[in-house]
Amino acid sequence: MAVRSFLNSYRGRLIIYSTALMLCLTGSLLYSYHHVDSIIKGETTEHIERVAQLSHKRLEDIQNSLKGYVDTIRSDLRLQEYMFVVTNIGSEAKPLHELYKKHFGWFSVDHYLFFSKSGKKLFGQAEASLVEQVKPILKETESIRYLDAHDGLEIVAISPIKYRDSILGYVVLSKHIGQKWLSAYHDESGVMAFFVKNNTVLSSCTGKLTGKSFNPSTANMTMGDDSYHIYHSNLSTTESTLPQLWFAIKNTEVVSRLNEHRRATLLTIGFSIAAITLFGLLLIRNFTRPLTQLIHLTRSITDGKLPDVDRTNKPNEIAALSNHFADMVKALKDKQDEIDKVHAALEKSAITDMLTGLYNRRYLQVVFPKLVAQAQRDLHKIAAILIDLDHFKQVNDEHGHITGDMALSHFSDELKKLSRTNDYLFRIGGEEFLVLSITDDINGIAQFAEKLRSEIASTPVQYQELTIPLTISCGISLADSNDPDQSTLTQLLNKADKAMYEAKEKGRNCVCLAPGLSTSPLLRQV
Ligand code: GH3
Ligand code: MG
Ligand code: MG
Repeated sequence: MAVRSFLNSYRGRLIIYSTALMLCLTGSLLYSYHHVDSIIKGETTEHIERVAQLSHKRLEDIQNSLKGYVDTIRSDLRLQEYMFVVTNIGSEAKPLHELYKKHFGWFSVDHYLFFSKSGKKLFGQAEASLVEQVKPILKETESIRYLDAHDGLEIVAISPIKYRDSILGYVVLSKHIGQKWLSAYHDESGVMAFFVKNNTVLSSCTGKLTGKSFNPSTANMTMGDDSYHIYHSNLSTTESTLPQLWFAIKNTEVVSRLNEHRRATLLTIGFSIAAITLFGLLLIRNFTRPLTQLIHLTRSITDGKLPDVDRTNKPNEIAALSNHFADMVKALKDKQDEIDKVHAALEKSAITDMLTGLYNRRYLQVVFPKLVAQAQRDLHKIAAILIDLDHFKQVNDEHGHITGDMALSHFSDELKKLSRTNDYLFRIGGEEFLVLSITDDINGIAQFAEKLRSEIASTPVQYQELTIPLTISCGISLADSNDPDQSTLTQLLNKADKAMYEAKEKGRNCVCLAPGLSTSPLLRQV
């Protein structure tokens, strides 16, 4: 149940969404952290492949330029004629050599060789091993190929030189691809390149690997203290017996990139978790806290309380809602105060006599059971003094009803003045009054009644130049709260009524006790 209400609350949802977001982000970053290995290795392979393709392109460019050179040489008419003279007439090759140097010496080649039709070297600059390799392939149709060189490969372009459609001999131009080319290439691309022959490194860009044994079975190799990620450059025209071109990237470089990437990933994870946590806390603080306060507020209003709500100056929607709420609670409070006042006034008027301000007969019915309970608790009795104004009809008849009211008011003022705080004063009829008191002291009650009587008798009503004498007759009765038969209001009033009538019969302006009651001898005259 608690879980369900948590899930349904905005606070719960916010926590769940933030946690889910955090898990997704952390998950994807951790995935990247773990797979960065293969990603970076893949990238490394791609990089090395691109470098290899670039090298192919360069070698192709060299081949094309060699092709262009040999085409230029063989189509030169003067060279054809000189060649004819050398090969068919048997002249010295020197003028032909001079001619070549003069017109084609600027060609960017490493070696040049001229051969007769029979394969005899006429002139040229090249190592003997190259000459030996070239001789058997002079007549082959393929004019460009790779040959073995002491530290790599030799790109060789061969072309027949013809004169009037008959072959006079061959021209051979070559470019050397060895240590020098490898180091120039390394400087540009940053990737190591090396030639391998017979499982030994023939030459390498820095010379560091040269002479080391090399037996690749995977994409990685270890040479010396270093391990490398390697790639074989598959030169399409290179035979397997020729040196093979390989590229390599040091694994320490890959690892440092890996570590860099991992550090960045870990930083991102930490930052994301911190950011999402902060974001979640801010959301909870800014949204759910004021909402929770409003919920508590509405709950206490439902419980009948109207707490003070402070207004806020914050410029947001929840603050505006909260302020409306504060206004609403204040308006409710004002209304409630008004209602309380009216209610109190109504309550008072419901139990109060308008003319005298004393309790009325209805309140007597309400309060009497409470007085009985209180008397029982205190082990006391309830004393009643029933008071009737004497010949009051006469006052009305002689001075009018309004003056009569003044007389009633005068009497009640005197009664209030003389009564004690614990006494309950009622006007129970037109000119009939009742005093209830919780006491066992019948003497005290009789004394009070007597004092009241004499005070009224000696204080006539003063109204509009009139002086109207007033007397009262009092009857005193006692209810025993521990005796249910004796404790009813009707019985108490009946007994007091009898005593009061006795006082009337005795000539009025006196106090009488109910049958069975007696006072101390000093009060007997009462
Ligand atoms: P007694 O001494 O026997 O009591 O004589 P009494 O004239 O007082 O007789 P009774 O009790 O029969 O008359 C009560 C009179 O009180 C009748 C009525 O005119 C008058 N009275 C009752 N209520 C009011 C009131 O609210 N205002 C005024 N001015 N007179 C009232
Ligand atoms: Mg009366
Ligand atoms: Mg009377």
